[in-house]
Amino acid sequence: MLDQSRIDPLRHAAIAERGHFINGRMVPAQDARTLNVLSPIDGRPFTRIASGSAQDVDQAVTAARHAFEDGRWSGATPAARKKVLLKLADLIEQNALELAVLGVRDNGTEISMAFKAEALSAAASFRYYAEALDKIYGEIAPTADNVLGLVHKAPVGVVGAIVPWNFPLMIGAWKLAPALATGNSVVLKPAETASLSLLRIAELASEAGLPDGVLNVVTGPGAVVGEALALSMDVDVLVFTGSGATGRRLLEYSARSNLKRCYLELGGKSPNIVFNDAADLAKAAKVSAAGIFRNSGQVCVAGSRLLVQEDIHDDFVAALCNEAEALKVGDPLDLSSQIGAVHSLAQLESHLRFVETAEAEGAECRTGGQRILEATGGYYMAPTVMTGVKATDTIAQKEVFGPVLAVSPFKDEADAIRIANATEFGLAAGVWTADLGRAHRMIRAVRSGVIHVNTYGGADLTVPLGGVKQSGNGHDKSLHALDNYVDLKTAWIQL
Ligand code: NAD
Repeated sequence: MLDQSRIDPLRHAAIAERGHFINGRMVPAQDARTLNVLSPIDGRPFTRIASGSAQDVDQAVTAARHAFEDGRWSGATPAARKKVLLKLADLIEQNALELAVLGVRDNGTEISMAFKAEALSAAASFRYYAEALDKIYGEIAPTADNVLGLVHKAPVGVVGAIVPWNFPLMIGAWKLAPALATGNSVVLKPAETASLSLLRIAELASEAGLPDGVLNVVTGPGAVVGEALALSMDVDVLVFTGSGATGRRLLEYSARSNLKRCYLELGGKSPNIVFNDAADLAKAAKVSAAGIFRNSGQVCVAGSRLLVQEDIHDDFVAALCNEAEALKVGDPLDLSSQIGAVHSLAQLESHLRFVETAEAEGAECRTGGQRILEATGGYYMAPTVMTGVKATDTIAQKEVFGPVLAVSPFKDEADAIRIANATEFGLAAGVWTADLGRAHRMIRAVRSGVIHVNTYGGADLTVPLGGVKQSGNGHDKSLHALDNYVDLKTAWIQL
């Protein structure tokens, strides 16, 4: 149970400058460069991290390769790997509050959410894949009697993982846990503005018994560290969560280097569709508000487009605006805040520009639309509802990745499907209806990797998360994610 008196002593705890984590140790950047870490809570710097270079990436990839080749982890028994990863899950749980607060200090997510969705979720991921790793079998092919066809699932070797600043622990663990469970070595590159909690995970992994060199973390700018990792000739698979623009670059880097497989989890512009036959419109309004505004809208699956059937549009928008206005935005380390900070000033300014553009294109700002709590020095934005949005408007097409909801009316099922599918994205969706047949028709018709019915968000580890269209090409979570981290190797044996 979270308790303010346990959070407060951690909020200003001094944090020493952090290096990269390579070969089991914290090391400074080879050229000694560092970056300031700013807190979105008050806009102030509170520590520094190493600003990596291609040489640092090279050092980490070499350590990872060496560890992989000598079998210290890749050759360990499944039981031994399981023991270490279960121990890591325990350590994360024991340090959950410290990890969550550390993460909030550099990324701004409200602590009530970060504690569960970051720290506890990371522990759950390590436990899930630790439990899975000794239950994965290869295959025996149905061959003629004089041959034996075996299909091994072999670890790929060195995995490069590049993750974003929203939910770094949760998303980092979605990649690290299956990669390590299957025996790979990893070089992880966190977002330059949200590295602290993942550096701590690397230390905890070491404490849990993960051999040196198996998990390495290199911090610093994407265009330097991320690029070097993606261009490395010695990285076998690249797993990525972030923007489509970076995802495109990674595919180019792969083509220019060793054709490494790239699994991309990208952005969304997810439609949340409310039909007039929804059983509980008050609940739909409340859950839909949480589905866009939690973590200040900085959620890849955020229901950022609300499509409402014409005849309930006005009442539903009124209920939704009430919900938005009732949400308490504030210091993310204060347990009474329901919404924390926007991650950076650049993000906040971009959100405000989206609101201006929407208004210029004819939408109406019904609530929010402005920066708040500016005196704190932090980056906060009022939950914002824009109505009268046309399917072709910028705000209906581009990912804001902030607390800005675009609302459009629709006539009937066919109209809802047409508007829902009219973007380049296909990450998530929601449908509110009491008609089971309609729910199933919508599940089939809306092009998205996940669709929520009579709820929004909350899918757990047992189901995959991945996008279709330009929202990505891979999957995190569930047993399906393990496929990203193994090669199928056929042995054809003449008997
Ligand atoms: P981003 O693409 O700017 O950065 C993501 C990571 O890529 C960071 O670590 C960054 O340093 C690195 N990077 C940046 N430029 C690079 C380059 N040239 N080469 C290699 N690496 C580079 O994205 P962001 O702003 O950190 O994250 C927000 C985006 O992530 C949003 O679009 C959001 O929807 C998406 N996201 C998707 C999911 C999902 O599961 N599909 C989950 C969370 C976030």
